[in-house]
Amino acid sequence: MTSRLLIVGPQGSGKGTQGVRVAEAYGIPVVSTGDIFRANIKNGTPLGQKVKAITDAGDLVPDDVTGEIVADRLSQDDAAQGFLLDGYPRNAAQVEYLDAFLGGRGESLDAVILLDVPREESIARITERARIEGRSDDTEEAVAHRLDIYESETAPIIDTYEKRGIVIRVDGVGSLDDITAGIFAALDARGLERAV
Ligand code: AMP
Repeated sequence: MTSRLLIVGPQGSGKGTQGVRVAEAYGIPVVSTGDIFRANIKNGTPLGQKVKAITDAGDLVPDDVTGEIVADRLSQDDAAQGFLLDGYPRNAAQVEYLDAFLGGRGESLDAVILLDVPREESIARITERARIEGRSDDTEEAVAHRLDIYESETAPIIDTYEKRGIVIRVDGVGSLDDITAGIFAALDARGLERAV
């Protein structure tokens, strides 16, 4: 049984935290494009140098660069039985690229977990994260810009997945444990088997 999952939600929706919990329970790796970019920036790799200014501004890294990274990562052995994508795809072109990549292997996504959080709540949470973590792309402008991109480019991809009947909508406001329980219940109901 495979678990090919995607978690989607605005910045500050808690998808990073919930994604790790889900991946652990299903015994699958988290594939987070944001984490991959941050690691490359931190290590000063050529990719990191190429994307630093873009991510700092809250803009999207070009689709071809991002797609190649995801294809490489999903080709590794530990992703053969499943994976949880976090932060990819983020627009219609990336959905198409992922469809083509997975389709080429006879695969498709099993479920898309959508964490619903109102814009004001997102901003409040990110402002708090900025205070604690000091991420270089958590400036007020970059946060607002990322939310705009989420609303204009990422939210519409949910419709595409809704049409395929694979979206699980979970209220992202509440206690972390309640939200995790809600995600598990919805995945269980779809017949996805947890490893632990
Ligand atoms: P995240 O941690 O998911 O918020 O990603 C941090 C930053 O990495 C984003 O603001 C983008 O600049 C870049 N990034 C992450 N994922 C993607 C993606 N799928 N397409 C383009 N840029 C991305």
